[in-house]
Amino acid sequence: MGAKRRVSHDCGSGKVLLVENKTEGYAAWCHRCSDKGFWPHPAPTLAERLERLSRASQVEAAATMTLALPQPMNLDPSTWPLEARVWLYKAGLSNDKIKELGVYYWGAAHRVVMPVYDDQGLVYWQARGFERGRPKYVNPPIDKARLMARFGTDGPIVLTEDILSAVRVGGVARGWAVLGTSLSIPQINMLVGAGPVLIWMDPDGPGRKASGRMLRALRQIGIPCATINTDKDPKLHTYEQISHALQEGSGRCA
Ligand SMILES: [Zn+2]
Repeated sequence: MGAKRRVSHDCGSGKVLLVENKTEGYAAWCHRCSDKGFWPHPAPTLAERLERLSRASQVEAAATMTLALPQPMNLDPSTWPLEARVWLYKAGLSNDKIKELGVYYWGAAHRVVMPVYDDQGLVYWQARGFERGRPKYVNPPIDKARLMARFGTDGPIVLTEDILSAVRVGGVARGWAVLGTSLSIPQINMLVGAGPVLIWMDPDGPGRKASGRMLRALRQIGIPCATINTDKDPKLHTYEQISHALQEGSGRCA
């Protein structure tokens, strides 16, 4: 799945026909005569679907026992199933940005893997799935209360819930994902002396509650901070909107 191969075509000599095994079927296109074709994969039977699910669960169980990045990696977003790409495109990530971040498609589990690095190297990864009946995220056995996924180098620190929001905010400031809705003691320690902190959680109940809790915790130890409340996740805003929200939030930092 996802593989491409060049084979010969009956229009002449040489390997001119590109055949690609896509999610929905085999697609072919001839570079010489522009002939093309599509051969859909048969719809899987119930038994086949169950078999595939069980194989994927086994692969996942093995991969989530270590920090090592799950293999094999498909680093070319243009060959991924559409839903895997669209999820990242919605958060404003281009194919180039996806490659730059080292985000890849893990076909064996039908998941997109987001690696998290710090100065020392790989510290965490998160694999987002798209199939009903399976966990939305799987990750390695790392205590995520002891880390934050950090992106960007300048500007105020902005705490977000998830990695994609931190990536987006990291384009104009320092986006630090707390990987959930609670701020642990080790995470608070990372913020001490690092400058003003803006708290920008998702606009749902847990996000709003988390914002208030974090604000109180940080104020209590004297870190200048403010919350940013918007009607969409940070990752769903344009850079211009993000800059504007950060400017406005920084003005309220106390
Ligand atoms: Zn041809």
